[in-house]
Amino acid sequence: MKKIGLIGGMSWESTTEYYRIINETVREMLGELHSAEIILYSVDFYVIEQLQHEGKWDEAGRILADIAVKLERAGADFIVICTNTMHKVARQVEDATGIPLIHIAEPTIRAIGERKLEQILLLGTRYTMVEDFYKGRYKGSGIEVQIPDETDRNEVNRIIFEELCLGVISEDSRAKMLAVIEKAIAKGAQGVVLGCTELELLIREQDVTLPIFKTAELHAEYAAKEALR
Ligand code: GLU
Repeated sequence: MKKIGLIGGMSWESTTEYYRIINETVREMLGELHSAEIILYSVDFYVIEQLQHEGKWDEAGRILADIAVKLERAGADFIVICTNTMHKVARQVEDATGIPLIHIAEPTIRAIGERKLEQILLLGTRYTMVEDFYKGRYKGSGIEVQIPDETDRNEVNRIIFEELCLGVISEDSRAKMLAVIEKAIAKGAQGVVLGCTELELLIREQDVTLPIFKTAELHAEYAAKEALR
């Protein structure tokens, strides 16, 4: 079994999900008492979020790249960054080591392709929704990416940082999120990408009539399968 190097803590609320899902997937695949070999480096998210906020992505990238090197030295066979947003510095992290990085967008794009959907709504932090580092991965996939309008983007971003990353799950915010999804359906969305690893703590399958794509779950399952490949 390959050893999985996780860069987590962004936030730890969703990293615990990675830990659970990876281990459950390995147990399902191998049975008995099998579990995953994981090396986790969990950051102080306060520091990372400050750097995001100040636009100091290079510095944040250096921190994650240093962590990736430590994980490689500790024996990791590949790297998983447990957040969508910090994939903005994925290249920096990838270039720092000699081991592969499993990009969070890939298993999701594959899952949408399998459902043959042509247009999805992307929900995530404002960085993920607006910038190209994430949406750009969809180019050439035949999948059109819709994002909420600016007011809704601000609210989705606020819910992520002020609630979900602090472990707050609110019915009111769930209702707001579902209203954003309803608007997107009216504009032609056929699926919803929960492009922030904490969103799947709030939005459940039963809340939405469309297929939802949980980036943390898909990423974690993919990593577990990669470890056994
Ligand atoms: N976990 C979130 C994501 O998937 C947001 C936290 C962060 O800024 O990294 O984007």
